[in-house]
Amino acid sequence: MKLYDIFDWCKRGPELENYPYIGEVALNATEADIETLLEIDGETYAIGVLGVRDNDAGVRKIEINAATHACNYEYEMKCPYCGFMDCDSWELQDEGNEHACCRCNAIIGYERVVTVEYNSWPVSPPNTVRTEWTNK
Ligand SMILES: [Zn+2]
Repeated sequence: MKLYDIFDWCKRGPELENYPYIGEVALNATEADIETLLEIDGETYAIGVLGVRDNDAGVRKIEINAATHACNYEYEMKCPYCGFMDCDSWELQDEGNEHACCRCNAIIGYERVVTVEYNSWPVSPPNTVRTEWTNK
């Protein structure tokens, strides 16, 4: 299978030949799917586009971490393994669950943190009653 670097997908159009050629691997496109991570010479590639007819794939080089810590208070769900920020986090269920990372397919536990803040603005000033001191 021929691999192309699609780091800037889809700025060069839908044809994989328009992206930088990386090389060819022994794995056949029919043996892979979009969730397959390729490990080649100690580096990891995530398949983003798979071409079974032309036996090619568009891949992104990613780093997989040991994931020893949580990713807290991020604006999107962040994968602790590959660092992917899931822009579709809003589609996840409210209750904490497990979810497969869209890039590396690792299983991630998550919870949605909701904070409440308030805005205020003037509408009408407070009423006062005018009076005077009687003991002075
Ligand atoms: Zn991931």
